[in-house]
Amino acid sequence: MTWPKDKRENLDAFYGRHLLAANGRPTSAWLSEHLKNFTAPYPLTLSWDLNAQVTKLYCHKLVGESLVNIFEKILAHYGNITEVRKARMHLYGGVYNYRPIKGSNRLSTHAWGASIDLDPERNPLGKAHDPNAGMMPIDVVEIFEAEGWKWGGKFQNRPDCMHFQAAT
Ligand SMILES: [Zn+2]
Repeated sequence: MTWPKDKRENLDAFYGRHLLAANGRPTSAWLSEHLKNFTAPYPLTLSWDLNAQVTKLYCHKLVGESLVNIFEKILAHYGNITEVRKARMHLYGGVYNYRPIKGSNRLSTHAWGASIDLDPERNPLGKAHDPNAGMMPIDVVEIFEAEGWKWGGKFQNRPDCMHFQAAT
């Protein structure tokens, strides 16, 4: 899969330029045109509320199938949900979020529902990857990369190891 470059004009062209309501947020018409719920292949848990199960991935309709494939591959890689949980790959940090990149005025790819955060607690923004510290498993990084997604752990200016985006 070829995803757009992580630049405003490419993201607008590929994923759709936001139409904003008076409150400065995307209109419900824009959201229903571009985002859709996809069923997750295994139940996820909200990383900030471990009692909350997530069974739907609310993401851009152009990335949903790829994201479902990725979670199917993660499940197949670990073999079962118990092993997925041991690897903390059920800890969901969110997909769609209309917001700028932290410390910047550039819109995050989350604003198009084209990125996902996994296990944010062990993979905090700014912390360089240390595979021996229980951070993002490289096997999972490779699964995302095989679908053309970019891993935030390789961001030049500031690593973001929880983050994967369908934009290069
Ligand atoms: Zn993120």
